[in-house]
Amino acid sequence: MHQTNLIKPLLGANYPVIDYGKGIYLYDNEGKEYLDASSGAITANIGHGVKEIIDAMLEQAKRVSFVYRSQFTSDAAEKLAQKIAELTIGDLNWCFFVNSGSEATETAMKIAIQHWQEKGIHTKQKVLSRWMSYHGITLGALSMSGHTGRRARFIPLLEDFPVIHPPYCYRCPYNLEASNCGHVCAQELDTVIKRIGANQIAAFIAEPIIGASGGAITPPKGYYKVIKEICEKNDILFIADEVMTGFGRTGAMLACEHWDIEPDIVALGKGMGAGYAPIAAALVSERVMKPILAGSKIVMSGHTLSANPQSCAVALAVLEYLEKNEIIKEVDKKSVYLIEKLEKLQDNFPFIGDIRGKGLMIGLEFVKDREEKTPFPRELQLTQKLIQLAQNCGLLIYPAGAGIDGINGDSVLIAPPLTITIPEIDELIKRLQVTFQLFSNKYL
Ligand code: PLP
Repeated sequence: MHQTNLIKPLLGANYPVIDYGKGIYLYDNEGKEYLDASSGAITANIGHGVKEIIDAMLEQAKRVSFVYRSQFTSDAAEKLAQKIAELTIGDLNWCFFVNSGSEATETAMKIAIQHWQEKGIHTKQKVLSRWMSYHGITLGALSMSGHTGRRARFIPLLEDFPVIHPPYCYRCPYNLEASNCGHVCAQELDTVIKRIGANQIAAFIAEPIIGASGGAITPPKGYYKVIKEICEKNDILFIADEVMTGFGRTGAMLACEHWDIEPDIVALGKGMGAGYAPIAAALVSERVMKPILAGSKIVMSGHTLSANPQSCAVALAVLEYLEKNEIIKEVDKKSVYLIEKLEKLQDNFPFIGDIRGKGLMIGLEFVKDREEKTPFPRELQLTQKLIQLAQNCGLLIYPAGAGIDGINGDSVLIAPPLTITIPEIDELIKRLQVTFQLFSNKYL
């Protein structure tokens, strides 16, 4: 590919040009096939080229593609908001549409702050979070993100919102066992709130399963109950960032369902449009909306393309497709099968230190020494090398952070479209095995 004016994530890198996609596969303009085991960035949840979604896009485009949200609403936006309210837990009945996950978490943050303002409490302005978290790249979302690598250049512009350890059981900072740890890392939140003052804190935000900055870090049972209790006791809202985990990725519409907790606000994105259109949302519970409805009646957020009819029609079609084909119900079965196969690979490749996650969001952490859990030296850049080898072998996997600072470790996410079949999982494993063998021969 010759040099163009496009700023690519890695300038000067030789990115293949994708010609078309079908199901779990992408094909470049030289005819090379890629099995998309990462759904792009955990986004293409129903695979590529699905006719029903393309038809819905076309149908909407024929009627109208854009109306401005401060002048009009659309059938697509109204129906989508209603369907999401029906399919989500608790009383998350209000939907604010935006265009990216970063906008969704920032909108969630602003609504949380506004909730307290409308109640006459103007000091609650902070949104606390965890280290090894990622809530988006815009400055507000980055302020909440405990992703040290992505924060580094902008630290003077950011708020210090990440305050507690993540539930990273594989490398527990307290050297405890998950089965009887007393959820010390969740209890940290109580200590921090006491130090800062609950009257300064509007909300606490967390990804139910940590994705990009930890490789599917999954908390032990009971963790979120402790977090929720601490939030409630201190009048602090709980925001679930389900941008990656939502829309069925973990085998439930929202991952919070696995721990039986009802968030006050939820951020959605990625799988919502499944890559067919940019769309994301902040879902807001009745109790959070109540003072706003009784007060200013205006949510101070929004973008020109918020609730874009074209994007809403796509997300509605994605939901209908998931429902009609009972896709979310099947995720657990596929997950068990995939994990079993990955565990077999682990027997042959000692550098696979940990396998974790839920549904079709599985993280693999790589180590130099499995017993000691020693990370590989950073300068080797092994995750990047592995990703490149996999791509050469026709397999797409997603790089994630690992190590106690989220930087000094190696992990990847295996997160294929939820529509993947069992024979396709076999093919994924076959390509992963070839990749791991080449990786061992070349770099270890
Ligand atoms: N929140 C989570 C949990 C994410 O994984 C991401 C993206 O990876 C975001 C927010 C930001 O979403 P976007 O890249 O669409 O802005």
